[in-house]
Amino acid sequence: MQASFQPAAASLRPVAFDSESAAKAKPKAFTPDASANLTDPDNAPAVRLLTDTLQEATRRNASDLHIEPAEQGWRMRLRIDGVLHAIPQPPAHLRDAFITRVKVLARMDIAERRVPQDGRLRIATSPGRVEDYRVNSLPTLFGEKLVLRRLDALPADLSLDSLGLDPRQRETVDAAIRAPHGLVLVTGPTGSGKTLSLYCFLNLLNGEARNLCSVEDPAEIQLAGINQVSVREKAGLTFAVALRAFLRQDPDVIMVGEIRDEETADVAVKAAQTGHLVLSTLHTNDAPAAIARLIDIGVEPYNLAAALRLVTAQRLVRRLCAACRAPAPQSAAALRAAGFTDDQLDGWEPYAATGCAACHGIGYRGRVGVHQVMPVSDAMREMIVASAGTHELARLAQTEQVATLRDAALARVRDGTTSLAEALAATEVA
Ligand SMILES: [Zn+2]
Repeated sequence: MQASFQPAAASLRPVAFDSESAAKAKPKAFTPDASANLTDPDNAPAVRLLTDTLQEATRRNASDLHIEPAEQGWRMRLRIDGVLHAIPQPPAHLRDAFITRVKVLARMDIAERRVPQDGRLRIATSPGRVEDYRVNSLPTLFGEKLVLRRLDALPADLSLDSLGLDPRQRETVDAAIRAPHGLVLVTGPTGSGKTLSLYCFLNLLNGEARNLCSVEDPAEIQLAGINQVSVREKAGLTFAVALRAFLRQDPDVIMVGEIRDEETADVAVKAAQTGHLVLSTLHTNDAPAAIARLIDIGVEPYNLAAALRLVTAQRLVRRLCAACRAPAPQSAAALRAAGFTDDQLDGWEPYAATGCAACHGIGYRGRVGVHQVMPVSDAMREMIVASAGTHELARLAQTEQVATLRDAALARVRDGTTSLAEALAATEVA
């Protein structure tokens, strides 16, 4: 195996600047005001504020920075572990210079303030550290709101162990993705970490012996050794078109960022039946619901039963800060209502978030996945062919010892990883 194709942490990096959108986004005209702003020494505080703010985003491992104009002044917030937190209010008079500065760096048209724009920003936040951001502007009533998504915020560890699977789940997942063919689905809402799970699966299979292809909307991180394609709807490059092209490229493993239409579902299922391992995601609440969704989209139950090997569902729960978590005794009734069984009630107390300097007063630091891992058994295949409903499939899964998402989250409460409040919020039954 060649060292250069080892998906080491160092190979994880944002996709190079997209020259096509850069050309489109290049400022067409500078207003006299704005160009004055760039050379004006008064602009220096705005530049310094931007550097300071991005350093803060890095330090706190934020995923996004929100810059929001208000009727008077503005505010900035950081999304940390999925939740927005305000940061100290910036001086009101720096607002316009700050927004202009970001737009210039992101190669957006600074004269255009009436329509949304997209851009990319690469900035040295400290010596030797370069960060990439995807920038989007939105004209609101009080000015342009900017959101900067940090592209370096993805974890460097892409091992199966990083996902938070319990030992039995890990074994089931490992067996499914090492199978030579079949369809493996990861389900959950936006922001539940589905794509990262697929990357971990690909990472495990990555090597000289296999041809791995992925199509995403868009491909945001590069993984050395994977043939990655970004969807470009306008140019006619859809998930289904890429998928058909992959099949003419002698593939072994195919990752489809998302299945959301009949054509994509159809090609993915057929590919999984004809000797390929296909990995994809679906927006459903839990694993059993994925089956009804695919049949709704238009997949024949018989084909689905033959292709489907494993469905997982996942959520991310915040980890309690180990430095300040505190026991928070709950009544047996409250624990039972949350879903604990009587034999799980003795000998432990849940912890709750407190807040300290180490966690910036939040009480949580980082997140971990909780999973439902549902292998498709022979009994389940028969049910799929018989067009059984989600409820029946869920009941069968339960008799086959498949833990629900709630069960998995409660296990993380018992071992002190997260709080009861966080577990319940993350696995709310929709
Ligand atoms: Zn703390």
